[in-house]
Amino acid sequence: MKEFKGISASSGVAIGKAFLYVDDVFSQIPRYTITRDEVELEWARFLEAVLAAETEVLELLERANREMGEEQAKIFESHLMMLRDEDLKDQIQTKLHKSSQNIEWVLWDISRELTQKLSNSSDAYLQERVVDIFDVSRRILHKLLFIKKVSLADLQEEVILVTHNLLPSDALVMNKRLVKGIAMDMGGPTSHTAILARAFEIPAVLGLSRATTEIKNGDLVIVDGNAGHIICNPNKEVLERYQRMAVQLKKMAEDLKSLRDLPAETTDGCRVTLKANIEIPEEAPLALQHGAEGIGLYRSEFLFLTPGQSADEERQYRAYKQVLEGMGSLPVTIRTLDVGGDKIIPDLQATEEKNPLLGWRAIRFCLAHKEFFKTQLKALLRSSVHGNLKIMFPMISGIEELEAALAVLEESKAELAASGKAFSEKLDVGAMIEIPSAAMTADILAKKAAFFSIGTNDLVQYSLAVDRGNERIAYLAQPFHPAVLRFIKRTIDAAHEEGIPAAMCGELAGNPHATALLLGLGLDEFSMSAASIPLVKKIIRSVSLKDCQALASAALACSSYVEVENLVTQWMRQRIAS
Ligand code: PEP
Ligand code: MG
Repeated sequence: MKEFKGISASSGVAIGKAFLYVDDVFSQIPRYTITRDEVELEWARFLEAVLAAETEVLELLERANREMGEEQAKIFESHLMMLRDEDLKDQIQTKLHKSSQNIEWVLWDISRELTQKLSNSSDAYLQERVVDIFDVSRRILHKLLFIKKVSLADLQEEVILVTHNLLPSDALVMNKRLVKGIAMDMGGPTSHTAILARAFEIPAVLGLSRATTEIKNGDLVIVDGNAGHIICNPNKEVLERYQRMAVQLKKMAEDLKSLRDLPAETTDGCRVTLKANIEIPEEAPLALQHGAEGIGLYRSEFLFLTPGQSADEERQYRAYKQVLEGMGSLPVTIRTLDVGGDKIIPDLQATEEKNPLLGWRAIRFCLAHKEFFKTQLKALLRSSVHGNLKIMFPMISGIEELEAALAVLEESKAELAASGKAFSEKLDVGAMIEIPSAAMTADILAKKAAFFSIGTNDLVQYSLAVDRGNERIAYLAQPFHPAVLRFIKRTIDAAHEEGIPAAMCGELAGNPHATALLLGLGLDEFSMSAASIPLVKKIIRSVSLKDCQALASAALACSSYVEVENLVTQWMRQRIAS
Protein backbone atom coordinates (compact mmCIF):
# COMPACT_ATOMS: atom_id res chain seq x y z
CA MET A 1 0.00 0.00 0.00
CA LYS A 2 1.34 3.42 -0.94
CA GLU A 3 -0.10 6.79 -0.05
CA PHE A 4 0.57 10.05 -1.92
CA LYS A 5 -0.30 13.47 -0.64
CA GLY A 6 -1.48 16.03 -3.16
CA ILE A 7 -3.86 18.95 -3.45
CA SER A 8 -7.58 18.44 -3.15
CA ALA A 9 -9.01 19.81 -6.39
CA SER A 10 -12.46 18.22 -6.46
CA SER A 11 -14.19 16.61 -3.49
CA GLY A 12 -15.56 13.08 -3.15
CA VAL A 13 -14.14 9.57 -2.96
CA ALA A 14 -13.50 7.26 -5.91
CA ILE A 15 -12.14 3.71 -5.97
CA GLY A 16 -11.11 1.94 -9.14
CA LYS A 17 -8.47 0.54 -11.43
CA ALA A 18 -5.74 2.89 -12.58
CA PHE A 19 -5.67 3.86 -16.23
CA LEU A 20 -2.33 5.47 -17.04
CA TYR A 21 -2.83 8.10 -19.66
CA VAL A 22 0.60 9.09 -20.86
CA ASP A 23 0.80 10.73 -24.25
CA ASP A 24 4.47 10.42 -25.19
CA VAL A 25 4.46 12.14 -28.57
CA PHE A 26 7.01 14.56 -27.10
CA SER A 27 9.52 11.76 -26.53
CA GLN A 28 9.38 10.61 -30.17
CA ILE A 29 10.00 13.82 -32.10
CA PRO A 30 12.06 12.94 -35.20
CA ARG A 31 15.01 15.18 -36.03
CA TYR A 32 16.71 15.31 -39.44
CA THR A 33 18.35 17.84 -41.71
CA ILE A 34 16.46 19.08 -44.73
CA THR A 35 17.80 20.63 -47.93
CA ARG A 36 17.13 24.21 -48.98
CA ASP A 37 14.60 22.96 -51.56
CA GLU A 38 12.67 21.08 -48.93
CA VAL A 39 12.10 24.13 -46.68
CA GLU A 40 9.03 25.32 -48.56
CA LEU A 41 7.60 21.83 -48.58
CA GLU A 42 8.05 21.56 -44.81
CA TRP A 43 6.39 24.95 -44.36
CA ALA A 44 3.41 23.87 -46.44
CA ARG A 45 3.12 20.69 -44.34
CA PHE A 46 3.11 22.83 -41.21
CA LEU A 47 0.38 25.16 -42.49
CA GLU A 48 -1.75 22.18 -43.46
CA ALA A 49 -1.32 20.63 -40.00
CA VAL A 50 -2.24 23.95 -38.35
CA LEU A 51 -5.42 24.14 -40.44
CA ALA A 52 -6.41 20.61 -39.47
CA ALA A 53 -5.71 21.43 -35.82
CA GLU A 54 -7.84 24.57 -36.13
CA THR A 55 -10.78 22.51 -37.39
CA GLU A 56 -10.47 20.21 -34.37
CA VAL A 57 -10.27 23.09 -31.89
CA LEU A 58 -13.27 24.81 -33.48
CA GLU A 59 -15.25 21.60 -32.92
CA LEU A 60 -14.12 21.48 -29.29
CA LEU A 61 -15.02 25.13 -28.86
CA GLU A 62 -18.52 24.52 -30.16
CA ARG A 63 -18.86 21.56 -27.84
CA ALA A 64 -17.62 23.58 -24.88
CA ASN A 65 -20.14 26.32 -25.67
CA ARG A 66 -22.90 23.75 -25.94
CA GLU A 67 -22.08 21.53 -22.96
CA MET A 68 -20.01 23.67 -20.61
CA GLY A 69 -19.78 27.29 -19.55
CA GLU A 70 -18.16 30.43 -20.81
CA GLU A 71 -14.94 29.87 -18.80
CA GLN A 72 -14.35 26.46 -20.38
CA ALA A 73 -15.02 27.77 -23.87
CA LYS A 74 -12.40 30.44 -23.28
CA ILE A 75 -9.74 27.76 -22.92
CA PHE A 76 -10.34 26.71 -26.52
CA GLU A 77 -10.67 30.29 -27.71
CA SER A 78 -7.15 30.85 -26.39
CA HIS A 79 -5.96 27.73 -28.26
CA LEU A 80 -7.49 29.06 -31.43
CA MET A 81 -5.75 32.37 -30.93
CA MET A 82 -2.45 30.57 -30.51
CA LEU A 83 -3.00 28.60 -33.73
CA ARG A 84 -3.75 31.85 -35.56
CA ASP A 85 -0.90 33.84 -34.03
CA GLU A 86 1.02 35.28 -36.99
CA ASP A 87 4.04 36.32 -34.88
CA LEU A 88 4.43 32.79 -33.64
CA LYS A 89 4.19 31.47 -37.19
CA ASP A 90 6.88 33.97 -38.32
CA GLN A 91 9.12 32.78 -35.51
CA ILE A 92 8.68 29.15 -36.59
CA GLN A 93 9.28 29.98 -40.27
CA THR A 94 12.47 31.91 -39.46
CA LYS A 95 13.79 29.03 -37.38
CA LEU A 96 12.90 26.55 -40.11
CA HIS A 97 14.96 28.57 -42.64
CA LYS A 98 17.89 29.08 -40.31
CA SER A 99 18.16 25.62 -38.78
CA SER A 100 17.47 23.44 -41.84
CA GLN A 101 15.83 20.93 -39.52
CA ASN A 102 12.49 19.18 -40.08
CA ILE A 103 9.36 21.09 -39.06
CA GLU A 104 8.40 18.72 -36.19
CA TRP A 105 11.68 19.38 -34.46
CA VAL A 106 11.52 23.15 -35.11
CA LEU A 107 8.02 23.31 -33.62
CA TRP A 108 9.02 21.23 -30.62
CA ASP A 109 12.14 23.34 -30.03
CA ILE A 110 10.19 26.60 -30.09
CA SER A 111 7.46 25.23 -27.79
CA ARG A 112 10.14 24.07 -25.36
CA GLU A 113 11.81 27.49 -25.33
CA LEU A 114 8.47 29.17 -24.71
CA THR A 115 7.37 26.80 -21.97
CA GLN A 116 10.74 26.99 -20.23
CA LYS A 117 10.46 30.75 -20.09
CA LEU A 118 6.94 30.55 -18.71
CA SER A 119 7.76 27.80 -16.19
CA ASN A 120 10.57 29.94 -14.74
CA SER A 121 8.24 32.86 -14.28
CA SER A 122 7.07 33.55 -10.74
CA ASP A 123 3.66 34.41 -12.18
CA ALA A 124 1.19 31.57 -11.50
CA TYR A 125 -0.96 32.63 -14.44
CA LEU A 126 1.95 32.44 -16.90
CA GLN A 127 3.08 29.10 -15.45
CA GLU A 128 -0.33 27.63 -16.10
CA ARG A 129 -0.14 28.71 -19.78
CA VAL A 130 2.52 26.01 -20.26
CA VAL A 131 -0.29 23.46 -20.40
CA ASP A 132 -2.00 25.31 -23.23
CA ILE A 133 1.20 25.55 -25.29
CA PHE A 134 1.74 21.81 -24.85
CA ASP A 135 -1.83 21.12 -25.81
CA VAL A 136 -1.65 23.17 -29.01
CA SER A 137 1.79 21.93 -30.11
CA ARG A 138 0.83 18.34 -29.36
CA ARG A 139 -2.21 18.70 -31.58
CA ILE A 140 -0.12 20.01 -34.50
CA LEU A 141 2.51 17.29 -33.94
CA HIS A 142 -0.16 14.59 -34.07
CA LYS A 143 -1.23 15.93 -37.46
CA LEU A 144 2.33 16.18 -38.78
CA LEU A 145 3.24 12.69 -37.63
CA PHE A 146 -0.13 11.13 -38.53
CA ILE A 147 -0.53 9.91 -34.98
CA LYS A 148 -4.03 8.83 -34.18
CA LYS A 149 -4.49 10.14 -30.68
CA VAL A 150 -5.64 7.70 -28.01
CA SER A 151 -8.83 9.37 -26.95
CA LEU A 152 -10.24 9.39 -23.46
CA ALA A 153 -13.61 9.42 -25.19
CA ASP A 154 -13.00 5.76 -26.13
CA LEU A 155 -12.64 4.31 -22.62
CA GLN A 156 -14.33 0.94 -22.24
CA GLU A 157 -14.62 0.58 -18.47
CA GLU A 158 -14.69 2.64 -15.28
CA VAL A 159 -11.22 3.94 -14.41
CA ILE A 160 -9.22 6.18 -12.15
CA LEU A 161 -7.34 8.38 -14.55
CA VAL A 162 -3.67 8.64 -13.59
CA THR A 163 -1.86 11.19 -15.66
CA HIS A 164 1.08 13.55 -15.65
CA ASN A 165 -0.87 16.53 -16.86
CA LEU A 166 -4.35 16.26 -18.24
CA LEU A 167 -4.70 18.80 -20.99
CA PRO A 168 -7.94 20.79 -21.13
CA SER A 169 -8.94 19.23 -24.44
CA ASP A 170 -8.50 15.72 -22.95
CA ALA A 171 -10.64 16.66 -19.98
CA LEU A 172 -13.40 17.96 -22.18
CA VAL A 173 -13.64 14.96 -24.50
CA MET A 174 -13.09 12.26 -21.87
CA ASN A 175 -15.93 9.90 -21.12
CA LYS A 176 -17.06 11.47 -17.85
CA ARG A 177 -19.30 8.54 -17.02
CA LEU A 178 -16.32 6.17 -16.96
CA VAL A 179 -13.71 8.44 -15.38
CA LYS A 180 -14.45 7.98 -11.68
CA GLY A 181 -11.49 9.87 -10.28
CA ILE A 182 -8.42 11.80 -11.36
CA ALA A 183 -4.90 11.58 -9.95
CA MET A 184 -2.43 13.94 -11.56
CA ASP A 185 1.26 14.70 -11.08
CA MET A 186 0.98 18.37 -11.91
CA GLY A 187 -1.55 21.12 -11.32
CA GLY A 188 -2.90 23.25 -8.53
CA PRO A 189 -6.36 24.13 -7.32
CA THR A 190 -6.73 26.86 -9.94
CA SER A 191 -5.48 24.85 -12.89
CA HIS A 192 -7.81 24.12 -15.78
CA THR A 193 -8.06 20.50 -14.78
CA ALA A 194 -9.19 21.42 -11.27
CA ILE A 195 -11.82 23.77 -12.68
CA LEU A 196 -13.10 21.12 -15.06
CA ALA A 197 -13.01 18.28 -12.50
CA ARG A 198 -15.15 20.34 -10.13
CA ALA A 199 -17.54 21.25 -12.92
CA PHE A 200 -17.89 17.50 -13.77
CA GLU A 201 -18.05 16.51 -10.07
CA ILE A 202 -15.22 14.01 -10.49
CA PRO A 203 -13.11 13.57 -7.32
CA ALA A 204 -9.60 14.77 -8.13
CA VAL A 205 -6.25 15.10 -6.41
CA LEU A 206 -3.61 17.09 -8.24
CA GLY A 207 0.02 18.05 -7.61
CA LEU A 208 0.96 14.46 -6.70
CA SER A 209 4.42 14.66 -8.42
CA ARG A 210 5.05 10.89 -8.64
CA ALA A 211 1.68 9.31 -9.44
CA THR A 212 2.56 8.28 -13.00
CA THR A 213 5.94 6.85 -12.03
CA GLU A 214 4.75 4.92 -8.97
CA ILE A 215 1.36 3.66 -10.14
CA LYS A 216 0.97 0.96 -12.78
CA ASN A 217 -1.92 0.31 -15.13
CA GLY A 218 -4.52 -1.80 -13.35
CA ASP A 219 -3.37 -0.95 -9.79
CA LEU A 220 -6.25 -0.42 -7.40
CA VAL A 221 -6.40 3.28 -6.52
CA ILE A 222 -8.45 5.29 -4.03
CA VAL A 223 -8.82 9.00 -4.79
CA ASP A 224 -9.79 10.89 -1.65
CA GLY A 225 -10.69 14.30 -3.03
CA ASN A 226 -11.79 15.50 0.41
CA ALA A 227 -8.50 14.84 2.17
CA GLY A 228 -6.37 15.52 -0.93
CA HIS A 229 -4.54 12.20 -1.11
CA ILE A 230 -4.56 8.96 -3.05
CA ILE A 231 -3.86 5.42 -1.90
CA CYS A 232 -2.45 2.81 -4.28
CA ASN A 233 -3.16 -0.87 -3.65
CA PRO A 234 -4.73 -0.32 -0.23
CA ASN A 235 -4.71 -3.05 2.41
CA LYS A 236 -7.97 -4.80 3.21
CA GLU A 237 -8.82 -2.60 6.18
CA VAL A 238 -8.26 0.70 4.35
CA LEU A 239 -10.08 -0.52 1.26
CA GLU A 240 -13.07 -1.59 3.31
CA ARG A 241 -13.11 1.73 5.16
CA TYR A 242 -13.16 3.64 1.89
CA GLN A 243 -15.73 1.30 0.38
CA ARG A 244 -17.95 2.04 3.35
CA MET A 245 -17.29 5.75 2.92
CA ALA A 246 -18.11 5.57 -0.81
CA VAL A 247 -21.36 3.71 -0.07
CA GLN A 248 -22.24 6.27 2.60
CA LEU A 249 -21.53 9.14 0.23
CA LYS A 250 -23.66 7.50 -2.46
CA LYS A 251 -26.47 6.87 -0.05
CA MET A 252 -26.20 10.44 1.16
CA ALA A 253 -26.47 11.65 -2.41
CA GLU A 254 -29.65 9.59 -2.71
CA ASP A 255 -31.00 11.04 0.56
CA LEU A 256 -30.28 14.46 -0.86
CA LYS A 257 -32.93 13.98 -3.47
CA SER A 258 -35.59 13.77 -0.78
CA LEU A 259 -33.94 16.36 1.49
CA ARG A 260 -33.18 18.92 -1.16
CA ASP A 261 -36.31 20.99 -0.84
CA LEU A 262 -36.93 20.39 2.85
CA PRO A 263 -36.02 23.17 5.29
CA ALA A 264 -32.95 23.01 7.52
CA GLU A 265 -35.09 22.96 10.64
CA THR A 266 -34.61 21.32 14.02
CA THR A 267 -37.25 19.02 15.50
CA ASP A 268 -38.44 21.92 17.69
CA GLY A 269 -38.80 24.34 14.82
CA CYS A 270 -35.57 26.36 14.72
CA ARG A 271 -34.94 27.22 11.08
CA VAL A 272 -31.42 28.00 9.89
CA THR A 273 -30.05 28.70 6.41
CA LEU A 274 -27.60 26.50 4.53
CA LYS A 275 -25.59 28.10 1.77
CA ALA A 276 -22.68 27.13 -0.45
CA ASN A 277 -19.13 28.40 -0.76
CA ILE A 278 -17.94 28.72 -4.35
CA GLU A 279 -14.74 29.70 -6.11
CA ILE A 280 -15.90 29.95 -9.72
CA PRO A 281 -19.26 31.07 -11.19
CA GLU A 282 -19.79 27.65 -12.83
CA GLU A 283 -20.25 26.12 -9.37
CA ALA A 284 -23.55 27.98 -8.81
CA PRO A 285 -25.80 25.36 -10.49
CA LEU A 286 -24.07 22.67 -8.45
CA ALA A 287 -24.87 24.56 -5.28
CA LEU A 288 -28.57 24.55 -6.23
CA GLN A 289 -28.47 20.84 -7.00
CA HIS A 290 -27.25 20.21 -3.47
CA GLY A 291 -30.03 22.28 -1.97
CA ALA A 292 -28.11 25.46 -1.16
CA GLU A 293 -30.35 28.38 -0.21
CA GLY A 294 -27.87 30.87 -1.56
CA ILE A 295 -24.15 31.49 -1.83
CA GLY A 296 -22.65 32.37 1.55
CA LEU A 297 -19.15 32.96 0.24
CA TYR A 298 -17.96 33.56 -3.29
CA ARG A 299 -14.17 33.84 -3.01
CA SER A 300 -13.72 36.49 -5.68
CA GLU A 301 -9.93 36.21 -5.68
CA PHE A 302 -10.21 33.11 -7.87
CA LEU A 303 -11.34 35.36 -10.70
CA PHE A 304 -7.94 36.95 -10.61
CA LEU A 305 -6.33 33.54 -11.07
CA THR A 306 -8.48 32.48 -14.01
CA PRO A 307 -6.31 32.02 -17.05
CA GLY A 308 -6.85 34.05 -20.16
CA GLN A 309 -7.62 37.60 -19.13
CA SER A 310 -7.09 40.20 -16.49
CA ALA A 311 -9.97 40.75 -14.09
CA ASP A 312 -11.01 44.21 -15.29
CA GLU A 313 -14.37 45.77 -14.30
CA GLU A 314 -16.22 44.27 -17.26
CA ARG A 315 -15.00 40.75 -16.68
CA GLN A 316 -15.70 40.94 -12.97
CA TYR A 317 -19.16 42.32 -13.66
CA ARG A 318 -19.92 39.43 -16.01
CA ALA A 319 -18.77 36.83 -13.49
CA TYR A 320 -20.79 38.34 -10.61
CA LYS A 321 -23.83 38.68 -12.87
CA GLN A 322 -23.48 35.02 -13.89
CA VAL A 323 -23.57 33.88 -10.25
CA LEU A 324 -26.48 36.17 -9.36
CA GLU A 325 -28.55 35.14 -12.35
CA GLY A 326 -27.68 31.50 -11.73
CA MET A 327 -29.06 31.73 -8.19
CA GLY A 328 -32.26 33.54 -9.17
CA SER A 329 -33.69 35.47 -6.23
CA LEU A 330 -31.56 33.62 -3.65
CA PRO A 331 -28.96 35.68 -1.78
CA VAL A 332 -25.37 35.69 -3.02
CA THR A 333 -22.62 36.96 -0.73
CA ILE A 334 -19.57 38.00 -2.70
CA ARG A 335 -16.44 38.62 -0.70
CA THR A 336 -14.15 41.35 -1.94
CA LEU A 337 -10.64 40.31 -2.91
CA ASP A 338 -8.82 38.35 -0.23
CA VAL A 339 -5.38 38.37 -1.77
CA GLY A 340 -2.18 37.80 0.17
CA GLY A 341 -1.27 35.46 3.01
CA ASP A 342 -1.48 32.01 1.50
CA LYS A 343 -3.21 33.33 -1.63
CA ILE A 344 -0.53 35.24 -3.48
CA ILE A 345 -1.43 36.58 -6.90
CA PRO A 346 2.00 37.56 -8.22
CA ASP A 347 0.60 40.07 -10.72
CA LEU A 348 -0.94 42.02 -7.87
CA GLN A 349 1.44 41.35 -5.01
CA ALA A 350 5.00 41.69 -6.16
CA THR A 351 6.39 42.58 -2.74
CA GLU A 352 7.81 39.75 -0.67
CA GLU A 353 6.93 39.85 2.99
CA LYS A 354 8.56 38.23 5.98
CA ASN A 355 5.21 37.33 7.53
CA PRO A 356 2.68 37.26 4.70
CA LEU A 357 -0.05 35.78 6.92
CA LEU A 358 0.26 38.81 9.16
CA GLY A 359 0.90 41.11 6.27
CA TRP A 360 -0.57 43.01 3.40
CA ARG A 361 -3.66 40.90 2.83
CA ALA A 362 -7.30 41.24 1.92
CA ILE A 363 -8.93 44.50 3.04
CA ARG A 364 -5.55 45.99 3.98
CA PHE A 365 -4.31 45.48 0.45
CA CYS A 366 -7.54 46.79 -1.08
CA LEU A 367 -7.60 49.93 1.06
CA ALA A 368 -4.02 50.64 -0.01
CA HIS A 369 -5.01 50.23 -3.68
CA LYS A 370 -8.12 52.34 -3.70
CA GLU A 371 -8.67 52.58 -7.46
CA PHE A 372 -8.23 48.85 -7.82
CA PHE A 373 -10.66 48.31 -4.94
CA LYS A 374 -13.16 50.70 -6.49
CA THR A 375 -13.03 48.74 -9.75
CA GLN A 376 -14.19 45.65 -7.90
CA LEU A 377 -16.83 47.53 -5.91
CA LYS A 378 -18.23 49.12 -9.07
CA ALA A 379 -18.40 45.74 -10.81
CA LEU A 380 -20.22 44.38 -7.76
CA LEU A 381 -22.61 47.31 -7.56
CA ARG A 382 -23.45 47.09 -11.26
CA SER A 383 -24.12 43.37 -10.92
CA SER A 384 -26.48 44.02 -7.99
CA VAL A 385 -29.39 44.71 -10.34
CA HIS A 386 -29.28 41.08 -11.50
CA GLY A 387 -30.14 39.39 -8.23
CA ASN A 388 -29.91 39.44 -4.47
CA LEU A 389 -26.34 40.58 -3.80
CA LYS A 390 -24.61 41.01 -0.46
CA ILE A 391 -21.05 42.29 -0.20
CA MET A 392 -18.62 41.10 2.45
CA PHE A 393 -15.24 42.48 3.49
CA PRO A 394 -12.53 39.98 4.53
CA MET A 395 -9.97 40.29 7.34
CA ILE A 396 -11.57 43.19 9.14
CA SER A 397 -9.49 43.78 12.28
CA GLY A 398 -11.39 46.71 13.74
CA ILE A 399 -13.94 49.45 13.18
CA GLU A 400 -11.52 51.76 11.32
CA GLU A 401 -11.09 49.25 8.53
CA LEU A 402 -14.79 48.55 8.26
CA GLU A 403 -15.58 52.26 8.12
CA ALA A 404 -12.83 52.90 5.56
CA ALA A 405 -14.11 50.08 3.34
CA LEU A 406 -17.69 51.36 3.63
CA ALA A 407 -16.49 54.85 2.68
CA VAL A 408 -14.85 53.52 -0.50
CA LEU A 409 -18.10 51.72 -1.28
CA GLU A 410 -20.01 55.01 -0.91
CA GLU A 411 -17.51 56.75 -3.20
CA SER A 412 -17.93 54.00 -5.78
CA LYS A 413 -21.71 54.38 -5.58
CA ALA A 414 -21.46 58.13 -6.09
CA GLU A 415 -19.17 57.72 -9.12
CA LEU A 416 -21.46 55.12 -10.66
CA ALA A 417 -24.51 57.30 -10.08
CA ALA A 418 -22.72 60.26 -11.67
CA SER A 419 -22.02 58.19 -14.76
CA GLY A 420 -25.65 57.09 -14.93
CA LYS A 421 -25.02 53.41 -14.18
CA ALA A 422 -27.72 51.44 -12.38
CA PHE A 423 -27.23 49.60 -9.09
CA SER A 424 -29.30 48.60 -6.06
CA GLU A 425 -29.30 51.29 -3.41
CA LYS A 426 -30.24 48.89 -0.66
CA LEU A 427 -27.50 46.36 -0.37
CA ASP A 428 -26.42 44.42 2.71
CA VAL A 429 -22.74 44.83 3.50
CA GLY A 430 -21.19 42.54 6.06
CA ALA A 431 -17.88 41.79 7.69
CA MET A 432 -15.96 38.57 8.05
CA ILE A 433 -15.01 37.84 11.61
CA GLU A 434 -11.76 35.93 11.31
CA ILE A 435 -9.31 37.90 13.41
CA PRO A 436 -9.47 37.72 17.23
CA SER A 437 -9.58 41.53 17.48
CA ALA A 438 -12.73 41.52 15.33
CA ALA A 439 -14.37 38.86 17.48
CA MET A 440 -13.48 40.80 20.62
CA THR A 441 -14.96 44.01 19.20
CA ALA A 442 -17.88 42.35 17.44
CA ASP A 443 -20.31 44.48 19.50
CA ILE A 444 -18.77 47.62 17.94
CA LEU A 445 -18.58 46.18 14.43
CA ALA A 446 -22.19 44.97 14.60
CA LYS A 447 -23.36 48.59 14.63
CA LYS A 448 -21.93 49.12 11.14
CA ALA A 449 -22.37 45.71 9.53
CA ALA A 450 -25.55 44.20 8.09
CA PHE A 451 -24.29 40.71 8.93
CA PHE A 452 -21.29 38.78 10.19
CA SER A 453 -19.70 35.74 8.64
CA ILE A 454 -17.25 33.88 10.84
CA GLY A 455 -14.17 32.64 8.98
CA THR A 456 -13.02 29.84 11.22
CA ASN A 457 -10.08 28.89 8.98
CA ASP A 458 -8.38 32.16 9.78
CA LEU A 459 -9.93 32.61 13.21
CA VAL A 460 -8.31 29.33 14.30
CA GLN A 461 -5.04 30.31 12.62
CA TYR A 462 -4.84 33.69 14.32
CA SER A 463 -6.27 32.86 17.71
CA LEU A 464 -4.11 29.77 18.21
CA ALA A 465 -1.06 31.11 16.30
CA VAL A 466 -1.09 28.12 13.95
CA ASP A 467 -0.12 28.66 10.31
CA ARG A 468 -3.03 26.95 8.50
CA GLY A 469 -0.71 25.67 5.77
CA ASN A 470 1.95 24.13 7.99
CA GLU A 471 1.66 20.32 8.20
CA ARG A 472 3.95 20.07 11.24
CA ILE A 473 1.69 22.03 13.54
CA ALA A 474 -1.61 21.05 11.95
CA TYR A 475 -2.50 19.06 15.10
CA LEU A 476 -2.76 22.40 16.94
CA ALA A 477 -5.37 23.82 14.59
CA GLN A 478 -8.32 22.83 16.78
CA PRO A 479 -11.59 24.61 16.06
CA PHE A 480 -13.01 23.11 19.29
CA HIS A 481 -10.36 24.90 21.35
CA PRO A 482 -12.16 26.77 24.17
CA ALA A 483 -10.64 30.05 22.92
CA VAL A 484 -12.15 29.57 19.46
CA LEU A 485 -15.53 28.55 20.88
CA ARG A 486 -15.58 31.67 23.04
CA PHE A 487 -14.75 33.87 20.04
CA ILE A 488 -17.56 32.26 18.08
CA LYS A 489 -20.03 32.69 20.92
CA ARG A 490 -19.01 36.30 21.46
CA THR A 491 -19.48 37.07 17.77
CA ILE A 492 -22.90 35.41 17.53
CA ASP A 493 -24.14 37.10 20.71
CA ALA A 494 -22.92 40.51 19.53
CA ALA A 495 -24.69 40.05 16.20
CA HIS A 496 -27.96 39.09 17.87
CA GLU A 497 -27.69 41.92 20.36
CA GLU A 498 -27.65 44.30 17.40
CA GLY A 499 -30.33 42.35 15.48
CA ILE A 500 -28.13 41.19 12.61
CA PRO A 501 -27.62 37.58 11.45
CA ALA A 502 -24.51 35.58 12.31
CA ALA A 503 -23.20 33.32 9.56
CA MET A 504 -20.16 31.08 9.31
CA CYS A 505 -18.29 30.31 6.08
CA GLY A 506 -15.10 28.71 7.43
CA GLU A 507 -14.63 24.94 7.11
CA LEU A 508 -16.16 24.36 10.54
CA ALA A 509 -19.59 25.26 9.15
CA GLY A 510 -19.53 22.17 6.91
CA ASN A 511 -18.13 19.84 9.57
CA PRO A 512 -21.03 17.55 10.60
CA HIS A 513 -19.32 16.95 13.92
CA ALA A 514 -19.76 20.63 14.78
CA THR A 515 -23.31 21.15 13.50
CA ALA A 516 -25.19 20.62 16.78
CA LEU A 517 -22.71 22.67 18.75
CA LEU A 518 -22.96 25.59 16.30
CA LEU A 519 -26.76 25.40 16.37
CA GLY A 520 -26.61 25.53 20.14
CA LEU A 521 -24.33 28.57 20.01
CA GLY A 522 -27.03 30.30 17.98
CA LEU A 523 -25.54 30.33 14.47
CA ASP A 524 -28.13 31.48 11.91
CA GLU A 525 -26.43 30.57 8.68
CA PHE A 526 -23.98 27.82 7.67
CA SER A 527 -22.03 28.17 4.42
CA MET A 528 -19.92 25.28 3.15
CA SER A 529 -18.83 23.40 0.05
CA ALA A 530 -22.03 22.35 -1.73
CA ALA A 531 -21.36 18.62 -1.30
CA SER A 532 -21.37 18.98 2.51
CA ILE A 533 -24.88 20.46 2.67
CA PRO A 534 -26.91 17.21 2.71
CA LEU A 535 -25.28 15.67 5.77
CA VAL A 536 -25.36 18.92 7.73
CA LYS A 537 -29.03 19.32 6.86
CA LYS A 538 -29.76 15.77 7.90
CA ILE A 539 -28.19 16.39 11.31
CA ILE A 540 -30.07 19.66 11.80
CA ARG A 541 -33.36 17.94 11.01
CA SER A 542 -32.72 15.22 13.58
CA VAL A 543 -31.85 17.32 16.65
CA SER A 544 -33.70 19.80 18.84
CA LEU A 545 -32.44 23.30 19.49
CA LYS A 546 -33.04 22.79 23.20
CA ASP A 547 -30.65 19.81 23.29
CA CYS A 548 -28.09 21.67 21.16
CA GLN A 549 -28.18 24.63 23.54
CA ALA A 550 -27.48 22.33 26.47
CA LEU A 551 -24.59 20.82 24.50
CA ALA A 552 -23.20 24.29 23.74
CA SER A 553 -23.38 25.31 27.42
CA ALA A 554 -21.57 22.14 28.43
CA ALA A 555 -18.94 22.68 25.70
CA LEU A 556 -18.32 26.26 26.83
CA ALA A 557 -17.64 24.96 30.32
CA CYS A 558 -14.93 22.53 29.10
CA SER A 559 -11.32 23.41 29.71
CA SER A 560 -9.69 21.78 26.67
CA TYR A 561 -10.47 20.89 23.06
CA VAL A 562 -10.08 17.21 23.92
CA GLU A 563 -12.87 17.54 26.47
CA VAL A 564 -15.08 19.34 23.95
CA GLU A 565 -14.37 16.70 21.32
CA ASN A 566 -15.22 13.84 23.68
CA LEU A 567 -18.37 15.59 24.76
CA VAL A 568 -19.54 16.20 21.19
CA THR A 569 -18.65 12.67 20.04
CA GLN A 570 -20.62 11.11 22.85
CA TRP A 571 -23.55 13.45 22.30
CA MET A 572 -23.66 12.66 18.59
CA ARG A 573 -23.41 8.91 19.20
CA GLN A 574 -26.44 9.03 21.45
CA ARG A 575 -28.60 11.06 19.11
CA ILE A 576 -27.60 10.56 15.50
CA ALA A 577 -28.10 7.13 13.98
CA SER A 578 -25.06 6.25 11.85
C1 PEP B 1 -11.91 31.53 6.59
O1 PEP B 1 -10.86 32.08 6.89
O2 PEP B 1 -12.51 30.74 7.35
C2 PEP B 1 -12.52 31.76 5.27
C3 PEP B 1 -13.71 31.30 4.96
O3 PEP B 1 -11.79 32.42 4.35
P1 PEP B 1 -10.57 31.78 3.53
O4 PEP B 1 -10.55 30.29 3.80
O5 PEP B 1 -10.82 32.09 2.10
O6 PEP B 1 -9.39 32.49 4.11
MG1 MG C 1 -10.17 33.75 5.74
